[in-house]
Amino acid sequence: MPDHLNAVVTGSSSGIGLGIAEALAAAGVNIMLNGIEEPGSVESDRRRLEETHGISAGYNNANLMKPEGVRDLIASAEERFGKIDILVNNAGIQYVAPIEEFPDEKWEAILALNLSAAFYGVKAVATAMKKRGWGRIINIASAHGLVASPNKAAYVAAKHGIVGLTKTAALELAEHGVTVNAICPGYVWTPLVEQQIPDTAKARGITEEEVKRDVLLHAQPTREFATVEQIGALARFLCTDDAASITGAALPVDGGWTAQ
Ligand code: NAD
Repeated sequence: MPDHLNAVVTGSSSGIGLGIAEALAAAGVNIMLNGIEEPGSVESDRRRLEETHGISAGYNNANLMKPEGVRDLIASAEERFGKIDILVNNAGIQYVAPIEEFPDEKWEAILALNLSAAFYGVKAVATAMKKRGWGRIINIASAHGLVASPNKAAYVAAKHGIVGLTKTAALELAEHGVTVNAICPGYVWTPLVEQQIPDTAKARGITEEEVKRDVLLHAQPTREFATVEQIGALARFLCTDDAASITGAALPVDGGWTAQ
């Protein structure tokens, strides 16, 4: 990986984003963390990244539901570090209900954060990355960017959308040393997955234990959750020069789910 890189990882106060921030920091990359939590609750993670890895880590709690939030986040990272070499569009939310009962505002919110925020992020960093002739953009899609499940209309639509955005951006930036890829995790044990268990149980009329065994792990032939460390390691590899020819790809980390 080249020296002196700076990264913005959206939604990195928790779960997969924090795992990616940790993996990049371990490779010497400065990190701008983001999430909607108050700075106080993220301070111990921010400080741990700096002290463990000897890098500079900031935290910006811009709400990425609106384009201005994304632009503020990018501007604050540019101001702190001088340039952004790596953008990881990871922030995302979920809501589980059949289409007939799916609240309009949940549809709008999921599309805004899980898809549009990534578009505004790419738009905000592309010109400077092109000018410098090097950049890495990683969009955290999902196995649900490749296949569907019932009761997740907005999430599946947004995740398929971000795979399309990834391909288009990859083509536009291919001749400028900038790669754009999507990572498509299967189920990873994070607060996002934990929180959807009660609603999935309700929507399917089964117990929470049955959701874990018969819905979540049933989808993954390995019968294991993927880990934030595994996603972080792939993100880190995509940022090396060895990965320069990987672009426009949607890479599953899903225990074989989408091979079925
Ligand atoms: P998580 O709930 O642990 O973390 C979500 C992060 O997004 C947090 O940092 C939160 O502060 C941030 N966030 C929420 N709303 C925000 C907003 N309006 N503006 C800015 N930040 C906001 O979730 P996770 O499981 O780590 O998921 C991260 C990404 O990975 C999501 O895009 C999700 O769809 C995707 N993903 C997760 C799984 C899984 O099994 N956990 C599987 C496939 C894909």
